[in-house]
Amino acid sequence: MTDPGMKCSRCKAPARHRFRQFNARFCDPCLEVFFQGQVARAIKKYAMLEPGQRVLVAVSGGKDSLALWQVLCDLGYAAEGVHLTLDLGEFSAASLAASQEMARRLGRPLHLASLEEMAGHQVQEVVWANRRQFCAVCGGLKRHFLNRLARDLGAPAIATGHHLDDEAGRLLGNLIHRHQDHLARQWPVLEASEDGFVRKVKPLCRLGAEEIRAYVLAHGLPVATGKCPQSKGATLPYYQEAMEYLDQKMPGTRRNFYLSFLRAKAGPPPAPVAGGVCQECGAPTFVGTCTVCRMLGRTAQWKETRRAAQAGE
Ligand SMILES: [Zn+2]
Ligand SMILES: [Zn+2]
Repeated sequence: MTDPGMKCSRCKAPARHRFRQFNARFCDPCLEVFFQGQVARAIKKYAMLEPGQRVLVAVSGGKDSLALWQVLCDLGYAAEGVHLTLDLGEFSAASLAASQEMARRLGRPLHLASLEEMAGHQVQEVVWANRRQFCAVCGGLKRHFLNRLARDLGAPAIATGHHLDDEAGRLLGNLIHRHQDHLARQWPVLEASEDGFVRKVKPLCRLGAEEIRAYVLAHGLPVATGKCPQSKGATLPYYQEAMEYLDQKMPGTRRNFYLSFLRAKAGPPPAPVAGGVCQECGAPTFVGTCTVCRMLGRTAQWKETRRAAQAGE
Protein backbone atom coordinates (compact mmCIF):
# COMPACT_ATOMS: atom_id res chain seq x y z
CA MET A 1 0.00 0.00 0.00
CA THR A 2 2.84 2.44 0.77
CA ASP A 3 6.45 3.07 -0.32
CA PRO A 4 9.10 4.39 2.06
CA GLY A 5 9.83 8.02 1.25
CA MET A 6 6.35 8.54 -0.19
CA LYS A 7 5.15 12.14 0.28
CA CYS A 8 1.64 13.44 0.99
CA SER A 9 -0.01 14.99 -2.10
CA ARG A 10 -1.42 17.84 0.01
CA CYS A 11 1.27 18.79 2.54
CA LYS A 12 4.44 16.91 1.44
CA ALA A 13 4.84 15.28 4.88
CA PRO A 14 5.63 11.54 4.85
CA ALA A 15 2.50 9.81 3.53
CA ARG A 16 0.90 6.71 4.95
CA HIS A 17 -1.87 6.06 2.43
CA ARG A 18 -1.83 5.71 -1.34
CA PHE A 19 -5.07 5.69 -3.34
CA ARG A 20 -4.78 4.42 -6.89
CA GLN A 21 -8.30 5.45 -7.90
CA PHE A 22 -7.45 9.06 -7.02
CA ASN A 23 -3.75 8.95 -7.92
CA ALA A 24 -3.08 10.52 -4.50
CA ARG A 25 -1.02 9.93 -1.33
CA PHE A 26 -1.92 11.21 2.12
CA CYS A 27 -0.64 11.53 5.66
CA ASP A 28 -3.23 10.86 8.41
CA PRO A 29 -4.38 14.50 8.90
CA CYS A 30 -4.73 15.03 5.13
CA LEU A 31 -6.58 11.71 4.76
CA GLU A 32 -9.15 13.14 7.17
CA VAL A 33 -9.54 16.34 5.12
CA PHE A 34 -9.80 14.31 1.90
CA PHE A 35 -12.28 11.76 3.28
CA GLN A 36 -14.60 14.31 4.89
CA GLY A 37 -14.36 16.43 1.74
CA GLN A 38 -15.45 13.55 -0.52
CA VAL A 39 -18.40 12.74 1.73
CA ALA A 40 -19.42 16.41 2.09
CA ARG A 41 -19.20 16.76 -1.68
CA ALA A 42 -21.41 13.72 -2.31
CA ILE A 43 -23.98 14.97 0.22
CA LYS A 44 -24.10 18.39 -1.42
CA LYS A 45 -23.89 17.28 -5.05
CA TYR A 46 -26.70 14.78 -4.75
CA ALA A 47 -28.70 16.84 -2.20
CA MET A 48 -28.70 14.01 0.35
CA LEU A 49 -29.10 15.79 3.70
CA GLU A 50 -29.66 19.24 5.17
CA PRO A 51 -26.82 20.54 7.40
CA GLY A 52 -27.02 19.00 10.87
CA GLN A 53 -30.03 16.89 9.89
CA ARG A 54 -31.09 13.82 11.84
CA VAL A 55 -30.29 10.63 9.96
CA LEU A 56 -30.53 6.95 10.78
CA VAL A 57 -27.36 5.01 9.87
CA ALA A 58 -27.86 1.33 9.04
CA VAL A 59 -25.00 -0.11 11.10
CA SER A 60 -23.89 -3.67 10.40
CA GLY A 61 -20.69 -3.50 12.45
CA GLY A 62 -18.55 -3.82 9.29
CA LYS A 63 -16.00 -1.24 8.12
CA ASP A 64 -18.28 0.64 5.72
CA SER A 65 -21.10 1.38 8.14
CA LEU A 66 -18.77 2.29 11.02
CA ALA A 67 -16.78 4.66 8.78
CA LEU A 68 -20.05 6.20 7.60
CA TRP A 69 -21.33 6.73 11.14
CA GLN A 70 -18.01 8.31 12.20
CA VAL A 71 -17.78 10.71 9.28
CA LEU A 72 -21.44 11.80 9.50
CA CYS A 73 -20.96 12.64 13.19
CA ASP A 74 -17.73 14.52 12.40
CA LEU A 75 -19.54 16.49 9.70
CA GLY A 76 -22.13 17.57 12.28
CA TYR A 77 -25.11 15.36 11.39
CA ALA A 78 -27.35 14.02 14.15
CA ALA A 79 -26.54 10.46 13.14
CA GLU A 80 -28.21 7.67 15.13
CA GLY A 81 -27.41 4.02 14.48
CA VAL A 82 -29.83 1.20 13.84
CA HIS A 83 -28.65 -2.41 13.96
CA LEU A 84 -30.79 -5.38 13.00
CA THR A 85 -29.68 -8.36 15.03
CA LEU A 86 -29.51 -11.77 13.43
CA ASP A 87 -28.82 -15.18 14.81
CA LEU A 88 -26.02 -16.54 12.63
CA GLY A 89 -23.66 -17.51 15.41
CA GLU A 90 -20.32 -15.86 16.15
CA PHE A 91 -20.47 -13.51 13.18
CA SER A 92 -23.75 -11.97 14.39
CA ALA A 93 -22.48 -11.63 17.96
CA ALA A 94 -19.31 -9.86 16.76
CA SER A 95 -21.38 -7.55 14.52
CA LEU A 96 -23.61 -6.54 17.42
CA ALA A 97 -20.65 -6.00 19.76
CA ALA A 98 -18.87 -3.79 17.18
CA SER A 99 -22.01 -1.70 16.63
CA GLN A 100 -22.45 -1.20 20.38
CA GLU A 101 -18.79 -0.32 20.88
CA MET A 102 -19.03 2.26 18.10
CA ALA A 103 -22.16 3.81 19.65
CA ARG A 104 -20.31 4.08 22.94
CA ARG A 105 -17.30 5.75 21.31
CA LEU A 106 -19.47 8.26 19.46
CA GLY A 107 -21.87 8.77 22.36
CA ARG A 108 -24.77 8.38 19.92
CA PRO A 109 -27.96 6.30 20.26
CA LEU A 110 -28.06 2.82 18.71
CA HIS A 111 -31.49 1.35 18.03
CA LEU A 112 -31.58 -2.46 18.13
CA ALA A 113 -34.21 -4.76 16.68
CA SER A 114 -34.24 -8.48 15.98
CA LEU A 115 -34.82 -9.24 12.31
CA GLU A 116 -36.18 -12.67 13.10
CA GLU A 117 -38.56 -11.37 15.75
CA MET A 118 -39.92 -8.77 13.36
CA ALA A 119 -40.27 -11.33 10.57
CA GLY A 120 -41.74 -13.95 12.88
CA HIS A 121 -39.49 -16.60 11.27
CA GLN A 122 -35.81 -17.41 11.02
CA VAL A 123 -34.24 -16.07 7.83
CA GLN A 124 -33.24 -19.64 6.93
CA GLU A 125 -36.89 -20.75 7.11
CA VAL A 126 -37.94 -17.92 4.76
CA VAL A 127 -35.13 -19.02 2.42
CA TRP A 128 -36.26 -22.66 2.37
CA ALA A 129 -39.95 -21.86 2.02
CA ASN A 130 -39.39 -19.46 -0.87
CA ARG A 131 -36.51 -21.34 -2.55
CA ARG A 132 -34.45 -18.19 -2.90
CA GLN A 133 -30.85 -17.24 -2.16
CA PHE A 134 -30.02 -16.40 1.42
CA CYS A 135 -28.48 -12.99 0.66
CA ALA A 136 -31.46 -11.93 -1.45
CA VAL A 137 -33.95 -12.90 1.26
CA CYS A 138 -31.88 -11.42 4.09
CA GLY A 139 -31.34 -8.17 2.13
CA GLY A 140 -35.03 -7.89 1.24
CA LEU A 141 -36.11 -8.43 4.85
CA LYS A 142 -33.55 -5.90 6.12
CA ARG A 143 -34.69 -3.20 3.68
CA HIS A 144 -38.32 -3.80 4.55
CA PHE A 145 -37.89 -3.70 8.32
CA LEU A 146 -35.35 -0.85 8.25
CA ASN A 147 -37.93 1.23 6.44
CA ARG A 148 -40.52 0.35 9.04
CA LEU A 149 -38.15 1.18 11.93
CA ALA A 150 -37.25 4.51 10.35
CA ARG A 151 -40.95 5.36 10.02
CA ASP A 152 -41.61 4.32 13.62
CA LEU A 153 -38.65 6.42 14.83
CA GLY A 154 -39.75 9.40 12.74
CA ALA A 155 -36.34 9.51 11.02
CA PRO A 156 -36.33 11.60 7.84
CA ALA A 157 -33.60 9.55 6.12
CA ILE A 158 -31.72 6.24 6.22
CA ALA A 159 -28.01 6.30 5.32
CA THR A 160 -26.26 3.11 4.18
CA GLY A 161 -22.54 2.37 3.80
CA HIS A 162 -22.69 1.43 0.08
CA HIS A 163 -19.54 2.79 -1.53
CA LEU A 164 -18.27 3.39 -5.04
CA ASP A 165 -16.94 -0.15 -5.52
CA ASP A 166 -20.32 -1.62 -4.49
CA GLU A 167 -22.19 0.71 -6.80
CA ALA A 168 -19.82 0.15 -9.74
CA GLY A 169 -20.17 -3.63 -9.33
CA ARG A 170 -23.94 -3.33 -9.17
CA LEU A 171 -23.92 -1.10 -12.25
CA LEU A 172 -21.88 -3.63 -14.21
CA GLY A 173 -24.32 -6.40 -13.28
CA ASN A 174 -27.33 -4.27 -14.17
CA LEU A 175 -25.85 -3.40 -17.57
CA ILE A 176 -24.84 -6.97 -18.39
CA HIS A 177 -28.33 -8.26 -17.61
CA ARG A 178 -30.11 -5.17 -18.95
CA HIS A 179 -32.05 -4.65 -15.76
CA GLN A 180 -33.66 -1.46 -17.03
CA ASP A 181 -35.77 -0.84 -13.95
CA HIS A 182 -32.74 -1.23 -11.66
CA LEU A 183 -30.66 1.04 -13.89
CA ALA A 184 -33.39 3.66 -13.77
CA ARG A 185 -33.35 3.56 -9.98
CA GLN A 186 -29.57 3.33 -9.47
CA TRP A 187 -28.78 6.69 -7.88
CA PRO A 188 -27.14 7.64 -4.53
CA VAL A 189 -30.43 9.08 -3.26
CA LEU A 190 -33.87 7.52 -3.35
CA GLU A 191 -36.54 10.03 -2.50
CA ALA A 192 -39.20 9.42 0.11
CA SER A 193 -42.63 8.59 -1.23
CA GLU A 194 -45.92 9.86 0.14
CA ASP A 195 -47.08 6.35 0.84
CA GLY A 196 -44.22 5.50 3.17
CA PHE A 197 -40.82 4.84 1.59
CA VAL A 198 -38.30 6.70 3.75
CA ARG A 199 -35.57 8.66 1.93
CA LYS A 200 -32.39 6.56 1.37
CA VAL A 201 -28.92 8.07 0.94
CA LYS A 202 -25.42 6.67 0.22
CA PRO A 203 -22.92 9.31 1.38
CA LEU A 204 -19.87 7.06 0.66
CA CYS A 205 -20.73 6.76 -3.05
CA ARG A 206 -17.61 8.68 -4.16
CA LEU A 207 -15.16 6.60 -2.06
CA GLY A 208 -13.92 3.06 -2.62
CA ALA A 209 -13.09 0.17 -0.29
CA GLU A 210 -9.39 1.10 -0.31
CA GLU A 211 -10.03 4.63 0.98
CA ILE A 212 -12.51 3.34 3.57
CA ARG A 213 -10.02 0.75 4.85
CA ALA A 214 -7.42 3.51 5.31
CA TYR A 215 -9.92 5.73 7.14
CA VAL A 216 -10.95 2.86 9.43
CA LEU A 217 -7.28 2.17 10.18
CA ALA A 218 -6.45 5.84 10.88
CA HIS A 219 -9.41 6.08 13.29
CA GLY A 220 -8.87 2.65 14.84
CA LEU A 221 -12.59 1.87 14.42
CA PRO A 222 -13.78 -1.30 16.24
CA VAL A 223 -14.79 -3.18 13.08
CA ALA A 224 -16.26 -6.69 13.42
CA THR A 225 -13.95 -9.12 11.68
CA GLY A 226 -15.15 -12.23 9.92
CA LYS A 227 -17.47 -12.83 7.05
CA CYS A 228 -21.16 -13.62 7.00
CA PRO A 229 -21.32 -17.45 6.93
CA GLN A 230 -24.20 -17.20 4.43
CA SER A 231 -22.58 -14.91 1.86
CA LYS A 232 -21.28 -17.64 -0.46
CA GLY A 233 -24.33 -17.59 -2.78
CA ALA A 234 -24.09 -13.86 -3.55
CA THR A 235 -23.21 -12.87 -7.13
CA LEU A 236 -22.37 -9.18 -6.58
CA PRO A 237 -18.75 -10.01 -5.59
CA TYR A 238 -18.14 -11.43 -9.09
CA TYR A 239 -18.97 -8.11 -10.71
CA GLN A 240 -16.88 -6.32 -8.12
CA GLU A 241 -13.95 -8.64 -8.83
CA ALA A 242 -14.29 -7.93 -12.55
CA MET A 243 -14.22 -4.19 -11.84
CA GLU A 244 -11.24 -4.67 -9.52
CA TYR A 245 -9.36 -6.44 -12.33
CA LEU A 246 -10.04 -3.58 -14.75
CA ASP A 247 -9.09 -0.99 -12.15
CA GLN A 248 -5.79 -2.76 -11.40
CA LYS A 249 -4.91 -2.71 -15.11
CA MET A 250 -6.24 0.82 -15.67
CA PRO A 251 -6.42 2.77 -12.39
CA GLY A 252 -9.43 5.08 -12.22
CA THR A 253 -11.58 2.94 -14.56
CA ARG A 254 -14.05 1.94 -11.87
CA ARG A 255 -14.49 5.47 -10.59
CA ASN A 256 -14.95 6.84 -14.07
CA PHE A 257 -17.39 4.04 -14.97
CA TYR A 258 -19.71 4.85 -12.07
CA LEU A 259 -19.38 8.64 -11.94
CA SER A 260 -19.82 9.02 -15.70
CA PHE A 261 -23.00 6.96 -15.42
CA LEU A 262 -24.28 9.40 -12.77
CA ARG A 263 -23.24 12.40 -14.87
CA ALA A 264 -25.05 11.08 -17.93
CA LYS A 265 -28.16 10.56 -15.86
CA ALA A 266 -28.02 14.10 -14.48
CA GLY A 267 -30.73 13.69 -11.85
CA PRO A 268 -32.46 11.39 -9.40
CA PRO A 269 -35.22 9.01 -10.44
CA PRO A 270 -38.73 10.20 -9.60
CA ALA A 271 -40.00 9.26 -6.14
CA PRO A 272 -41.51 5.80 -6.25
CA VAL A 273 -45.28 5.78 -6.43
CA ALA A 274 -46.43 2.56 -4.91
CA GLY A 275 -50.06 3.39 -5.47
CA GLY A 276 -51.17 1.55 -2.37
CA VAL A 277 -50.25 0.07 0.95
CA CYS A 278 -49.87 -3.57 1.94
CA GLN A 279 -53.08 -4.99 3.41
CA GLU A 280 -51.06 -6.89 6.00
CA CYS A 281 -48.29 -4.55 7.16
CA GLY A 282 -49.09 -1.08 5.81
CA ALA A 283 -45.84 -0.84 3.85
CA PRO A 284 -46.05 0.90 0.48
CA THR A 285 -46.54 -1.65 -2.29
CA PHE A 286 -47.49 -1.94 -5.94
CA VAL A 287 -49.73 -4.92 -5.30
CA GLY A 288 -52.28 -5.85 -2.63
CA THR A 289 -49.86 -7.64 -0.32
CA CYS A 290 -46.19 -6.60 -0.28
CA THR A 291 -43.40 -8.96 -1.39
CA VAL A 292 -42.16 -9.48 2.14
CA CYS A 293 -45.59 -10.33 3.55
CA ARG A 294 -46.09 -12.80 0.70
CA MET A 295 -42.72 -14.42 1.47
CA LEU A 296 -43.59 -14.59 5.16
CA GLY A 297 -47.04 -16.02 4.34
CA ARG A 298 -45.45 -18.79 2.26
CA THR A 299 -43.05 -19.46 5.14
CA ALA A 300 -45.90 -19.90 7.62
CA GLN A 301 -47.63 -22.32 5.20
CA TRP A 302 -44.41 -24.23 4.59
CA LYS A 303 -43.81 -24.62 8.33
CA GLU A 304 -47.37 -25.82 8.83
CA THR A 305 -47.02 -28.42 6.04
CA ARG A 306 -43.73 -29.60 7.48
CA ARG A 307 -45.18 -29.82 10.98
CA ALA A 308 -48.12 -31.85 9.70
CA ALA A 309 -45.79 -34.19 7.78
CA GLN A 310 -43.62 -34.73 10.85
CA ALA A 311 -46.71 -35.44 12.95
CA GLY A 312 -47.68 -38.05 10.31
CA GLU A 313 -51.04 -36.41 9.52
ZN1 LIG B 1 -0.54 15.67 4.44
ZN1 LIG C 1 -46.58 -6.17 3.86
